[in-house]
Amino acid sequence: MTETPRTRETRPAASASAPQGRPAQGKVRETRTAQVRPKTEGWTQQKDAEGRPLLQFASPKRGKPPVHLADLTPTERIEKVKELGLPGFRAKQLSTHYFRHYTSDPEQMTDLPADTREQLVAGMLPPLLTEVRRLETDRGDTIKFLWRLHDGALVESVLMRYPGRITLCVSSQAGCGMNCPFCATGQAGLTRNMSTAEIIEQIVRANRLIAEGGLGGKKADDHSMERVSNIVFMGMGEPLANYKRVMDAVRSMVAAQPDGLGMSARGITVSTVGLVPAIKKLADENIPVTFALSLHAPDDHLRDELIPVNSRWKVDEALDAAYEYYAKTGRRVSIEYALIKDMNDHAWRADLLAEKLNQRGRGWVHVNPIPLNPTPGSIWTSSEIPVQNEFVRRLNDAGIPTTLRDTRGKEIDGACGQLVATTEDEAASAAMA
Ligand code: SF4
Repeated sequence: MTETPRTRETRPAASASAPQGRPAQGKVRETRTAQVRPKTEGWTQQKDAEGRPLLQFASPKRGKPPVHLADLTPTERIEKVKELGLPGFRAKQLSTHYFRHYTSDPEQMTDLPADTREQLVAGMLPPLLTEVRRLETDRGDTIKFLWRLHDGALVESVLMRYPGRITLCVSSQAGCGMNCPFCATGQAGLTRNMSTAEIIEQIVRANRLIAEGGLGGKKADDHSMERVSNIVFMGMGEPLANYKRVMDAVRSMVAAQPDGLGMSARGITVSTVGLVPAIKKLADENIPVTFALSLHAPDDHLRDELIPVNSRWKVDEALDAAYEYYAKTGRRVSIEYALIKDMNDHAWRADLLAEKLNQRGRGWVHVNPIPLNPTPGSIWTSSEIPVQNEFVRRLNDAGIPTTLRDTRGKEIDGACGQLVATTEDEAASAAMA
């Protein structure tokens, strides 16, 4: 799930208990009364017969991507290799090449008999992602990939080096059915769910690039492991709307090598705009991933417009489910909150958010306000710095740990929620097809 408006993401709505212009509590009284309402810019949101933004939960029927080793369990991999007429132990060798050496190139698989490599790779490691475009920052420490899937659908991932860690923002769906008014990914609706292997392949391709020295920004004194250490599901799509494949991908990420990528579950962040039944399911998985709720508004009045799925599951229901996740897993929950000028950045909304979080307990949650890009002339523009600071101060003063999030990647239009294929991208893809 992506979320961030043009820097895209969210804006909350004032709730019935918190009318617009509600005076702020605390030392600083709020004087701003401006209330910008969410609306699309330059495109028309699809609506249902009652005039509500159309939500699309089911994936349209499309041709499925070829089955890949990363779609299968270790047992299924052995069976598939046997079906190809080869000994089952070749599955483990192939898995080692894929999950440990990040290769699908038969030439590099010198431990396999030369006359069976091509057959094994064709049957087990079919190509899934074709690179269409790559954008990187000057220092080369942030790289955005645009990938074409087997059926022409486009998705993106963004690789970012931070001190001591390397994060990959992955896509989980081509398009998205959640129809958030600030989000270009959702404009055309949901194209299809990505397969488990298509999700995993984004990581393997990033790891391959890192191993080849393609990610810049490494400091001389940085001795951290050179591979993706953190995953955030904040690229295209709402991950919990593609629940089974996303969770199968998470299982492969955390499985020990060579059966999987051997990553730590704690470094994996699954985010959602608030699909409550799926959040509850996630809490029962017994995989200690980090859970992030993209809230963007503490009041239903605003959130109904900002995050259309709020018409199905309200703020309090989403927060209850998030708290339940913490209660069951012991993992502190992240609340994502894009700060949008005069839309959701009012001090009273910071107070209301703090109140709602504190009502459910202490120490269970962390808030990440996300500064948007300054976008002159757009309603989806960044809050002013003093307003951002006041928002953060109020939450911290109320005992809610709150830190402004790094929005690395903005300069290449790659911050979460901005992962949107542009017309230019489509043209680049068409030229390659
Ligand atoms: S439309 Fe989908 S991808 Fe875009 S912000 Fe909403 S949930 Fe995220």
